[in-house]
Amino acid sequence: MEEWNNVYEQICERLRNHSYKLTPQRQTILKTFLENIDQHLSAEDVYQLVKNQYPDIGIATVYRTLDILAELGILQKNDFGDGRSRYEFSSRNEHHHHHLICLRCGEVAEFDDDLLESLEAVIFKRSQFKVMDHDLKFFGYCQKCQGTLS
Ligand SMILES: [Zn+2]
Ligand SMILES: [Zn+2]
Ligand SMILES: [Zn+2]
Repeated sequence: MEEWNNVYEQICERLRNHSYKLTPQRQTILKTFLENIDQHLSAEDVYQLVKNQYPDIGIATVYRTLDILAELGILQKNDFGDGRSRYEFSSRNEHHHHHLICLRCGEVAEFDDDLLESLEAVIFKRSQFKVMDHDLKFFGYCQKCQGTLS
């Protein structure tokens, strides 16, 4: 877990550099993301998880903290089309993985392989447009839900 402690320390330092106070509640929110590293949490999810430790935390505090962390690039804010933003750590790797979103149960899986470099090369060749990044979401049905389709 030493690696996480390092990540956590780095994030704390970045917050301090931007003169944001690292209140115990904000620390707990950060730890919640570290403990759920493979999840895509909404503000409500975070609120429910943090409430166990801080029963008097308000959802406005959660929203504000998530805003700050996203603004500093610590969290990546995602819109999966279900009307609520979901957050995850943005520093896990250089390339932002792609998301597979189930239209039935809302499960979000990740897809790491990037097969788009060749497409980006074609775009550059045909349009002289230099692609620096892309944002791609796949909507469909997870394996579990495929069995329930009528
Ligand atoms: Zn599903
Ligand atoms: Zn993700
Ligand atoms: Zn990609």
